[in-house]
Amino acid sequence: MYRYPRSAYIHIPFCHRRCFYCDFAVVPIGDNIDSLNGNKSDTVKDYLTYLKKEILSIKHKSPLSTIYIGGGTPSILDPTQIEDLINIFRKYYGIDRGAEITMEVDPASFDEYSLNGFINAGINRFSLGAQSFNDEILKKSGRRHTKDDVFNSCSWLSKAKNENFIRSWSLDLIQNLPESGTNIWTIDLKEAIKFLPPHISIYDLIIEDGTVFKKLYDLGKLSLPNNDESYENSALTSLFLKQSGYVRYEISNYSISGHQSRHNRVYWKGLGWWSFGQGSTSSPWGRRLTRPKTTELYKEWVTNQCSLALDESLLKSSFKEIDLDEKIMLNLRTSEGVNVRNLMKEYGWSDEKIEGNYLKLIKTWDKYLDGGLLKNEGDRFFLSDPKGMELSNQILIDMFNWWEKIN
Ligand code: SF4
Repeated sequence: MYRYPRSAYIHIPFCHRRCFYCDFAVVPIGDNIDSLNGNKSDTVKDYLTYLKKEILSIKHKSPLSTIYIGGGTPSILDPTQIEDLINIFRKYYGIDRGAEITMEVDPASFDEYSLNGFINAGINRFSLGAQSFNDEILKKSGRRHTKDDVFNSCSWLSKAKNENFIRSWSLDLIQNLPESGTNIWTIDLKEAIKFLPPHISIYDLIIEDGTVFKKLYDLGKLSLPNNDESYENSALTSLFLKQSGYVRYEISNYSISGHQSRHNRVYWKGLGWWSFGQGSTSSPWGRRLTRPKTTELYKEWVTNQCSLALDESLLKSSFKEIDLDEKIMLNLRTSEGVNVRNLMKEYGWSDEKIEGNYLKLIKTWDKYLDGGLLKNEGDRFFLSDPKGMELSNQILIDMFNWWEKIN
C-alpha cells in the first residue's frame, strides 16, 4: 500500500473566451491560438513554469494510476507542452502500466492532427466538452464551436478508439440550457449516441453568480426550461441512455461496461489525490486545499510553498479527514450508494454512538424511502433512478441538518 495519493489533477486555466455560464478559474486568451496570445505566448509558458515547479515540489512522490488534465481548455496547449507535463510525472512520480491518462478537449481548439499529437504524448482517454448539438443554443451559451465541430471531434475520437489508439472517451453535454426544451434535448441525446461514446457525462445547468447567464437571468431575459420540463429532460436522459446500453453509475455519469472514469471515482470515494494549478483543489489526506484562483496569486503561492517545502505542509498530520456528512454525500451520488453503519465504524464511532445517531438519520430519510426516492438493501442506501437521482437535494439537505444537530 502506498501512503501517498495515486492520482493527480492538473489545471490548465486558459480558454479562448469565457462561456456565458462559466465561473471557473479561467484565463481568456483570445481566439487565435497561433498568435502571440496562444500556446506559445509568454503567459502560457510562464504559467507552465510555475505549474512544473509545483509538481516537482512534492518530495515523497508515488507512482500514479490516474492523471486528469482539465481546465479551462487544455487542448489550447501544443501536444509538446502536454507531453512535457506527462514526462515530468513519468520521470519523477512514475506512471503505472495501464494508468488512465485523461485530457479535456474542446471541439473548437483541436483537429485530427493535434489529437494524434496528444495521443503520442501519452493521453489514452479524452473528455469532449460538446455541451450541445444545437448551433443556436451553442451560440447563445457563448461557445465558440458549432455542431459540425462536435461531429468532427466525435468522428476523430471514435476512429481513434476503434483503432485502439485510445482506451476510452467521454462526451459531455449540459442539460437544461436556455431554450433547450424536451424536443431539442431529445435530438441532442439522439445525436450523442450516434458515435457510440463509451462514456457520457450530463451536467445540469447551474446559474452561477458573476456569469453572463446570471445577469440575463436577473433581467428576466433567460428562457430556461421550467421545473417540470427540467425533470422531464432528466428523466428522459436516464431512460434514453439506459435503453441505449448505458449504465448510470453516478448522478451525472453514464458508461458502457468497463468505461467508468477511474479518476472521478477517486473523488467520489474520498480517496487522496494531488492537484496542481491555479484554483485547483487537492485532497491528499482527506481535508481539501484550494489554490488561489488568479494567476498572480497562484504564482506567489507556489513560490512561497516551495520555499516552505510544500510537501511538509501537506503531511498527513497537518490534515483532518473530511467530515462524515461529506463522505455520505459523495457515496450517495454513486449507484452503489452508501453503507452508513460501516462508514460510522470506519470513522471510529462506538457502538453506542452509532445506534442512536444511525436511527435518527434513517428517521429523517423515512419519507424518501416511502416515496421511492431512496432505496435500501440492509444498511446500504442508494438513490432510485431517475426520481431519487434527480431530486437528491432534499435528501442531502436533511442529512446535513441531521449532521448539524448531532454535532
Ligand atoms: S471552455 Fe469550459 S472552462 Fe472555458 S470558459 Fe467555457 S465552460 Fe469555462
